[in-house]
Amino acid sequence: MRVDKFLHQMNVGTRNQITQLIKKGKVTLNTQRVRNGKTQLDPAQDLVKLGEQEIKYQVHYYYLLNKPLGVISASTDTHQKTVMDIFNKSDYRPDLFPVGRLDKDTEGLLLITNDGDLAHKLLSPTHHIKKTYEATVTGKLDDAVIEKFAKGIELKDGTQLYPARLEILDYNRMEDTTTIHVEIQEGKYHQVRRMFGAVGQKVVNLQRIQMGTLSIDEGLLPGNYRELTQTEVDDLL
Ligand code: URA
Repeated sequence: MRVDKFLHQMNVGTRNQITQLIKKGKVTLNTQRVRNGKTQLDPAQDLVKLGEQEIKYQVHYYYLLNKPLGVISASTDTHQKTVMDIFNKSDYRPDLFPVGRLDKDTEGLLLITNDGDLAHKLLSPTHHIKKTYEATVTGKLDDAVIEKFAKGIELKDGTQLYPARLEILDYNRMEDTTTIHVEIQEGKYHQVRRMFGAVGQKVVNLQRIQMGTLSIDEGLLPGNYRELTQTEVDDLL
């Protein structure tokens, strides 16, 4: 691979900036100053430095974002703020994208990556990757609703869903709302909201807390993100 291409892929700068850095003698390859961007290297073997800083070779990037309310789950949009607009300039890469979608008015765990194969695995209906949501819903839920979810809800449009696990956490008498956890194994459009609609309730707020083996951390506030640990990546792959 060419050294200028490597530096571009590692997000060091624009192509022009990289040409300038090479011209100024800032890039070294195994201690030799690079004079020409076309110089070939083996990214897995060679040591590339920008000044004193080693440029590590990384192909895939994985971030866990706690999506805040009011932003859309898209890579780009001409009118609305997207989850990618949250990223710092130094972490942003044009090949990053959100794995699946959360509604604009849903918060919580969203995986952001440039690993298309992993995204495909997590989103493919055949894999039944489980997703858990915490929600506040109107009214007082009882065991009959748990049963209905466990059997598989039929949505108002006739769509038959797979069984889902509903856990009732708390009833707020003053507000007449119930806090629940629900674990689903599909990812249909507005699925959780439509499931509660099918049993006559409305979702007041919704947060995804788990997807497959990945959980949101308590300390990660909405609007913040972090890189996945190697163990988290390995568990997902
Ligand atoms: N179900 C919904 O209704 N909305 C989401 O954002 C995710 C799941």
